[in-house]
Order: sequence, then C-alpha cells, then structure tokens
Amino acid sequence: MAEILKGAPVAKAMAEELAARIQKLKERGITPKLAIIRLGSNPDDIYYEKSATRFCERVGAEVKSIVYPADCEETRLIRRIKRINNDDSIHGCLLLRPLPKHINEFRVSEALCPEKDIDCLTVGSLGSVFAGKGAGFPPCTAQAVMEMLQRSGFEIQGKSAVVIGRSLVVGRPVAIMLQQENATVTMCHSKTEDLAEICRRADIIVSAAGQPRIVTKDFVREGQVIIDVGINSNGNYISGDADFDEVEPIVAAITPVPGGIGVVTTATLVKHLVDSAESFSTKSKQ
Ligand code: NDP
Repeated sequence: MAEILKGAPVAKAMAEELAARIQKLKERGITPKLAIIRLGSNPDDIYYEKSATRFCERVGAEVKSIVYPADCEETRLIRRIKRINNDDSIHGCLLLRPLPKHINEFRVSEALCPEKDIDCLTVGSLGSVFAGKGAGFPPCTAQAVMEMLQRSGFEIQGKSAVVIGRSLVVGRPVAIMLQQENATVTMCHSKTEDLAEICRRADIIVSAAGQPRIVTKDFVREGQVIIDVGINSNGNYISGDADFDEVEPIVAAITPVPGGIGVVTTATLVKHLVDSAESFSTKSKQ
C-alpha cells in the first residue's frame, strides 16, 4: 500500500508558518493584501476565489475582490491592473483565467508588474523561473508540486523524474524546478512515444496532462512517487491523471485527486503573497 500524500497536512504546516510571518509584518504595520480579479461568474473561478479568500482569512491576510462583468472592456481591465501596480497596500494580484474570448490575455497579463505577479502570468515571471533569478514568482501549481515533494521528505537530488505535460502553467516550470533541485528530468507530451516505459524508469512521476486515468499500472513500479496534478471532471466526479485504484497498490507514494495538490496550490499562492509583502517592506525601509 502506498503512502497517501494528502494536501491538507502540507497546507496546514504552510498556514502555521505564514500566520507567524504575517504576525511579524503586522507588528511593523503591514498587512499582506491580495487583489483577486474575476470577470463574470465562472463556477471554477468562484471556487478558487473562495478557497484563496478562506486561506487568507485563516492566516490573517486581506483580500480585495474585484469583479467585472464578463463583457468588461480590455482597456478597463488594464487600467485597473495598472492601479494595482501603483497601490502600495496591495502586494499580489490573482487574475482568474481563462479570460473571456474578446480579451487579449497576453496584453492584460503583461500589464501586471512581475513583483505583484504571484501566479506567474507574465513573461517576466516565467523568465525568472527559467533563469533562476529575477522578479516574479513561479506558477503556484508548479511550486505546490515542489512543496509536496520537499515537505513530504522525498529526495529529489539525483533522482530520475518524468513530467507528463509541457504547458507553461504546470509541466514546463515543474520540469525546470525539478532540474534546479538536481533531478534528471524527462518532459513528456501528447506526441511522446513509449510513455509507459519512460514512466516506469522514473523515480518520480509528475502528471499534468489533464487526461483521466492515463497513468495505469503499466506506467509504474515499486518505490515510485506519483504526484498527480490532473483534475478531470466528468460532471459527476473528479479524477486525476492516474488510475488510482490500479496504481496505488504498486507505488511507494501517491497524491489523491481530489485532496492532493489543489489545496497546496492555494497555500502556495498565499505564500507568494507573503514573500511579496516582505520584499516590499524591505524595499520601503531602504
Ligand atoms: P494543458 O491542456 O495546457 O496541457 C496539457 C499537457 O499535457 C500538454 O502539454 C499535452 O501535450 C499533454 N498531454 C495531453 N494528453 C497527453 C497524453 N495522453 N499523454 C501525454 N501527454 C499528454 O493543461 P494544464 O497544464 O493547464 O493542466 C494540466 C492538468 O492539471 C489539468 O487537468 C488541469 O485541470 C490540472 N491543473 C491542476 C491545478 C491544481 O491546482 N491542482 C492547477 C492547474 C492545472 P501537448 O503539449 O503535446 O498538447
């Protein structure tokens, strides 16, 4: 039987650390504040907004919720983001995506300054992930994968890792971050041949394909750690990319879906907010 790597204990440990850091900031007159921008009433957006708001409340951070109608003009949105850039009381901004089709997501994202870009919207932030230095933060889900592995005590250095998926939101940044921790990484995608064999050779598999149950018993062997990022809903229930029932009896450890990486992603968003508030407070003292 595998160790089930639940997200809740990791998020709890992160919440305790963040509450202590926020308390210290408050003693210096700074309360970390997150701006969440939502267009329309997409249920997934509302769910993430509520989770982030609850987590902020739990640790003592503030949230400013900014809601526009789904047909909001692009120029209005960009003007609002620029105001956030210049508002010293706001330390991070989460723009819920995907944006409605009439809006150019790239133009809007690029309006945000990398220092407040706590979920890696901008090219500048992505550049920092790849360069390992510079302003901005990695995508929260990619960082959440690292938090889960490191806080669960798994050695990354020298291990062989396979990442399934190469999106800029999860797959590619996770691959870079694992490599920065000295794993030897293979990045796979929909055109990869012999995916099962490549996965069987790995010590760590991170699956972010968004395909229900593609990681079957043929992909795994004893001793592996499986981080399942996929969230696949068929309307009735949610499953990950791994066929949990098939894989769990074989591997050493696996994250469940739901109940795995999702909650750690929210905790990571707030961690980036606090990092940003601390960095603003250091700069304002200089
Ligand atoms: P994308 O659709 O942008 O990317 C999916 C990637 O998986 C692509 O690179 C694609 O390859 C690859 N892929 C698709 N099918 C296969 C396959 N059969 N075999 C191998 N590779 C495949 O998705 P995201 O990166 O945005 O998200 C991935 C999953 O993670 C989704 O289920 C999403 O819901 C979930 N997610 C979870 C979060 C969380 O907080 N837990 C946050 C963000 C995402 P190619 O490039 O060739 O098309």
